[in-house]
Amino acid sequence: MELQDSIRYVKGIGPKKAQALARMGIETIYDLLTYYPRRYQDQTELTPICDVEVGATVNIAGKVMAIAEKNSRRGLKMLTVILGDDTGTIQLTWFNQVYLKRKLKIGTDIFVHGKVGYAYGGHGQLAISQIISYDIGTVETKQNFNPVYTLPDFLKPKDFTNLLENLLTEEFTYPEIIPEFIREKYGFVNKAQAVHTMHFPRNNEELEKARQTLIYEELFVIQAGLLYLKHKTRLGQQGIGFKVNGELVDKVLAALPFTLTGEQAKVWQEIARDMEKPVQMQRLVQGDVGSGKTVIAVLSLVKAIENGYQGALMAPTEILAIQHYDKLKDLLTPLGITVELLTGSIKGKEKSRILEDLAAGNVDLVIGTHALIQDNVEFAKLGLVVTDEQHRFGVNQRAKLETKAGDKLPDVLVMTATPIPRTMTLTVYGDLDVSFIKELPPGRKPIRTFVRQPDRRPLIYKFLYDQVQAGRQAYVVCPLIEESDTLNTASVENIFEELSTTYLQGLRCALLHGKLPPAEKEQLLREFLAGNIDVLISTTVIEVGVNVPNASIMVVEGAERFGLAQLHQLRGRIGRGEYASYCILVNRGKNDNSLERLNLMVQISDGFELAEEDLRLRGPGQFFGNMQHGLPDLKIADVLNDVKLLARAREDAQKLIDLGIPKGNLNRLIELQYKDRFLKIADV
Ligand code: ADP
Ligand code: MG
Repeated sequence: MELQDSIRYVKGIGPKKAQALARMGIETIYDLLTYYPRRYQDQTELTPICDVEVGATVNIAGKVMAIAEKNSRRGLKMLTVILGDDTGTIQLTWFNQVYLKRKLKIGTDIFVHGKVGYAYGGHGQLAISQIISYDIGTVETKQNFNPVYTLPDFLKPKDFTNLLENLLTEEFTYPEIIPEFIREKYGFVNKAQAVHTMHFPRNNEELEKARQTLIYEELFVIQAGLLYLKHKTRLGQQGIGFKVNGELVDKVLAALPFTLTGEQAKVWQEIARDMEKPVQMQRLVQGDVGSGKTVIAVLSLVKAIENGYQGALMAPTEILAIQHYDKLKDLLTPLGITVELLTGSIKGKEKSRILEDLAAGNVDLVIGTHALIQDNVEFAKLGLVVTDEQHRFGVNQRAKLETKAGDKLPDVLVMTATPIPRTMTLTVYGDLDVSFIKELPPGRKPIRTFVRQPDRRPLIYKFLYDQVQAGRQAYVVCPLIEESDTLNTASVENIFEELSTTYLQGLRCALLHGKLPPAEKEQLLREFLAGNIDVLISTTVIEVGVNVPNASIMVVEGAERFGLAQLHQLRGRIGRGEYASYCILVNRGKNDNSLERLNLMVQISDGFELAEEDLRLRGPGQFFGNMQHGLPDLKIADVLNDVKLLARAREDAQKLIDLGIPKGNLNRLIELQYKDRFLKIADV
């Protein structure tokens, strides 16, 4: 058997079990072997007999008070012992193990680990009904870690452990990626040993070593992958060296209705300098919502275009792509730049024409969605790829777009408003250089934020109504929910029904959600932008990038359902114009936690600070869960607590790449561990 083989080849796993295991993400033997225990039950804690409870798994140390030998009703030989400590007595029964009788005398010490139930044939007396392990002749507790797995009901822990026990008697060849000198440096063990120990540790020290080894390996794999991505230019492929800023860039700067802020100018300079180097730029621009990242993207694209190259701007949603397209076409067409839009809903003749023009080099700038990375899209001379709000794009997708390069690799610029806590930048953006835009353009009015309970909705919507009467526009955001949802959160349709027939009657309300056909969504947003719709009642489709300066009020229904980072993104849709803006968070949460969390939105306006808080409050699982960062889930490492190891893993990975480590093992491990969910080094 090999690590990548299906678990169906494992003895004891039939088709049914295989299916159920697959639902837990266990498809291969490797998956099974690396399905680590959630925790370990330590047998070092003793329970006094008076404290045992039915159903609990306990450790008891006591002396034999009485022994009896009987035949059970089913004809099994039973050996029953009454075990006593200072606090009480409890019964132990062994079946068909009469040989134990020789060892058991009145007064003998026994240590037992097992599950508490009722005594066999007894009248409600307690017993260790399921003896998991025992020691006769000693009451000394022993360090013994029983693995506890997260398992579905049908899988008995014992069966699962047996499965692993059998499997671990086989020898597997793990792709070993951590060189021996590094293992020695940190006191790590080899992979086979680490995996074995995770399931059956003998002591704490051994377990900790195994765990550190695996955490390090996991972080090392990701970092090595990202660093390969980052340094592939050093591995033979050339980048483009653009010339210093020319006339076209100047013209765009002059055509802007504002001058760049100091922060924008700084970042623009960092980018321009990068673009002028003949190695591939791979830079991330992090800046809060509204910090003015778009203009930076435009300048970079124009720089590529004035050098005779094509530029691509990739947005995560069609709506955003269209908005960019509308704006940039107005700005750039007068300067003689051809701009095209390419999204999923552009089809037929129009699409063929755009594809032909792109391949022929008749298009300077193409703006689009995922449609841009489909196989049939070809560029004549791609020079720069900008992805906006990159957290929606995986590392893979980015790598794919780059395959559209000609003989030289195009530069890559990534824009994101998703504030990644500094502690995590390395894991998530390990392949990129980072620029920060740290201030907002001048003259922004702060958004006033309130948290309110649902009973205040009449007042909230009265306020919204009055603001609309005064000429403003508004968003009402509702959580996206499933039909089956029993929680007290109304769906966007219900809220639309409710509002448009009650509080907001007479206003022009529209309903927007992700399931609408793209053309309809686009139409609605255009109408909203044109001021023909007063209130947009919507799911989070508006989260990313939509820009309507006259919209100055946002009500978020069921705000407790959103992460702080996401609320911050949403809130960024308002406060974009000259008007005072209001964000009202309706809290339907039942506990203090949600109120405490939402109140942070009132106190903090900085996206990064909010992200740190969000991470602290919800933990990395949930924090990353909503983020779709495109990196694989971590099996064992915890990016918050393992920061030190992460830094080491990255440093070591860098050194080894510089030395030119063989990619074979790394690739094999990536494939085993992440299947097709993470990049393949060979592709890079
Ligand atoms: P984001 O970083 O969220 O993508 P945008 O690029 O959409 O932000 O910019 C937000 C708004 O700020 C836009 O209306 C844009 O025209 C405006 N803006 C950008 N830079 C400046 C500046 N230097 N001075 C004034 N307004 C600016
Ligand atoms: Mg933007």
